[in-house]
Amino acid sequence: MRDDFAVRLKRALGDDRVARDAPLAPFTTFKLGGTADWLVLAHRADDVRRALEIARDAGVPVTLLGGGSNVLVSDRGVRGVVIRVHGGDVRQLGVDRIRADAGVTINGLVRWTIAHGCAGLEMWAGTPGTVGGAIFGNAHFRGRLIGELVVQAELASERGEVLSVEAVLSADFRVGRGDAAALRAVARESLAYRKRTQPLESPSAGCIFQNPDPSRDRIPDGIPASAGALVDRAGLKGAREGAARVSMTHANFIVNEGGATATDVRRLIQRCKDGVRARFGVELREEIVFLGFDDGHTAN
Ligand SMILES: Cc1cc2nc3c(=O)[nH]c(=O)nc-3n(C[C@H](O)[C@H](O)[C@H](O)COP(=O)(O)OP(=O)(O)OC[C@H]3O[C@@H](n4cnc5c(N)ncnc54)[C@H](O)[C@@H]3O)c2cc1C
Repeated sequence: MRDDFAVRLKRALGDDRVARDAPLAPFTTFKLGGTADWLVLAHRADDVRRALEIARDAGVPVTLLGGGSNVLVSDRGVRGVVIRVHGGDVRQLGVDRIRADAGVTINGLVRWTIAHGCAGLEMWAGTPGTVGGAIFGNAHFRGRLIGELVVQAELASERGEVLSVEAVLSADFRVGRGDAAALRAVARESLAYRKRTQPLESPSAGCIFQNPDPSRDRIPDGIPASAGALVDRAGLKGAREGAARVSMTHANFIVNEGGATATDVRRLIQRCKDGVRARFGVELREEIVFLGFDDGHTAN
């Protein structure tokens, strides 16, 4: 069954787009983690659909990966097939609507909109990852959610005994008209803000924890409702496990200082959670997605 599965995948997508025991670290911004049993490189919605169908027929579990900028891949890797969705196009559907394939990077989308005088997405400049990943996690920046701009998303859903996957294939965004130079200025300001506030020189996966929600989390008076502030005030800024470190620039980032393992990162995450709970009674919830862990933090 499994051999047949690989043959079918290669026939559908091409030999060079299907790999066995493929290291995932290069496909993540953390630059760590183990291998995928199978890695499929999908560029377009059709590739994703076909790969999902073949995996479903063979009963092989599926994990979707976009830019790998919001995941921690376990040191033991990910069983089954990882479909990396990368590439595709943006097109104008009407004066106020554009469609982007899931594998388009957010930066590519922003460049496209600015070049075409479409306003709305420029402040998202500098957000790592793809349209699919941004929709999956509802990416946020300075109090805004990417979902505010999404009119519609095309999903592929596969339900079977072994797996349940929803893959984002494309998304439509609402846009206005804008002057390219003015849009570019907003994009530059976002990039400068990121440079000032995020440790962009080291591999990371962005914010590790969601910010606490004042409507369900009891945050002590005088402490901002920010996961980074809680980690910082719990005395964990700069804390280390192996080569993983809580960033000195932004305490909600963990950086890989070179050779960190997923185990190092998990330990550091646990220390942050324990420290914040002990000090402030607040339970931090992860924003990053754990892939390949067998403690319930598995893929989608
Ligand atoms: C330096 C840095 C800065 C960051 N800044 C921000 C920020 O300002 N705001 C913010 O919200 N995030 C930020 N992030 C996190 C990350 O960039 C976003 O969460 C991004 O949207 C993730 O997209 P991705 O394609 O990399 O997803 P991945 O990391 O590849 O995947 C994340 C999740 O989405 C799922 N997924 C990916 N593609 C698909 C698809 N096509 N269909 C279904 N599921 C899919 C994956 O299975 C996984 O569960 C930052 C990260 C870094 C490294």
